[in-house]
Amino acid sequence: MPKKIMRTYRFRLYPNLEQEKKLQNTLAVCRWVYNRFVQLAQKRFVSQYDLQTFLIELKEQEQWLRNYHSKMLQMIALQVHSAEKALVQMHKNGHNTGFLRLLKYNNFTMFCYNQSGFKIEKHGREHLLWLSKIGYVPIRLHRNVVGQIKQIQIVKTADKWFACIGCEIYCATSEMEISKIIQYPHVGVDLGVKNFVYLSDGTSTKNPLYYVRNLHVIKRAQMKMSRRFRKNIKQQSDNYKKALKHYQKIHQRIANRRKDFQHKLSTQITKKYPVVFIENLNISNMVGNTLAQRILDSGWAGFINKLQYKAKSVIRISPYNTSVICSKCGHHTPKTLATRIHKCSQCGLQIDRDYNAAKNIDMIGFNKLHILNDISKKTIENSKSWQNPSSDQKSESKQVLQELQEPTSHHLSLNETSTSVKIEDRSMKQKNSTSLLVGVHTISDFDCDTAF
Ligand SMILES: [Zn+2]
Repeated sequence: MPKKIMRTYRFRLYPNLEQEKKLQNTLAVCRWVYNRFVQLAQKRFVSQYDLQTFLIELKEQEQWLRNYHSKMLQMIALQVHSAEKALVQMHKNGHNTGFLRLLKYNNFTMFCYNQSGFKIEKHGREHLLWLSKIGYVPIRLHRNVVGQIKQIQIVKTADKWFACIGCEIYCATSEMEISKIIQYPHVGVDLGVKNFVYLSDGTSTKNPLYYVRNLHVIKRAQMKMSRRFRKNIKQQSDNYKKALKHYQKIHQRIANRRKDFQHKLSTQITKKYPVVFIENLNISNMVGNTLAQRILDSGWAGFINKLQYKAKSVIRISPYNTSVICSKCGHHTPKTLATRIHKCSQCGLQIDRDYNAAKNIDMIGFNKLHILNDISKKTIENSKSWQNPSSDQKSESKQVLQELQEPTSHHLSLNETSTSVKIEDRSMKQKNSTSLLVGVHTISDFDCDTAF
């Protein structure tokens, strides 16, 4: 069955001065409407319907709002309502939440055209993005857009404009057998603060720590901003705005560098090893100690995400005791974070602690795969020995066995590309399943873009 998924492409916009003014003005109006909604939501819980009704009243009071695309303004109601719902959920989960806050000029950076009011046209060699009530804006389409465009978000960063195009695509879902995953080359990956990754093949990559390395530059920019900031003034000076832009640019550059590094490394790993075993880290729990800044600077979550859509399969394993167990003999060697070398008192193995952990991860991951494979074999055998199977059961078991023996077109072959999938333990609990399969979504043209 083809499955619908959303894919987001991010393209740079090149507006001229006049067009930029229009974009900026639209952003300001959206912020104004957003803040009016928030003022209403601060008094009582409002549903999306309430907000839409309020928007109609607002439009009658303020006639100039008719000069802006209606669906775009309606999307702000959805934005506020979603934020409100998230706050209520957080409150239920025991977090100390306040109210929605009014957004300041620099904090509102995005507006959205949903379903209508946009089109992309080709004029000569360049492409133009047409937005209702705004007009044409040059766009650099550096890659083909696949699928039906559902919405376009216009995002402003420090000094650049981007269009994030959300497309709906159909991808054929197929199942990938564990017996096939086992055949691919595999590697265990240990993520760390000192070494960004340590692979079980013995190679390591140092953590670039772009944010920590540029802290002195950030501090200087912050000092400059605070020197130029004047209290109790509605409009800050031009020199303050210049300093702010400089500060934003530094952060943007750091984020870009980190993204580039992660893309290069994840591509390098997944090209060599299509199957990756990785620890299932709870990063939010780890960010409470002295290493918090460095952990956040590493951006592990982004890296794992990139691995997941580039590799054939990413299998997460429990991080329990991976750095304690000796990878050669299995003896437990407890150590503090400061101990960088793993020294086994039992077998005398002396290697880097991260290398030891990576080897353990590889071993545990591979064992897990074998266990899953055995279970799948057993379930197939059980399915063979069904006594007096009904005609439906007969055809089902036949089909599954056929699939396992002769991979059909929708099965994953070496040439096909796919997004990776996390094998979960609950798959072991499948009832009445004739085989244990790992779901994989195959996409006709793999070039998944996470956009952010
Ligand atoms: Zn040992």
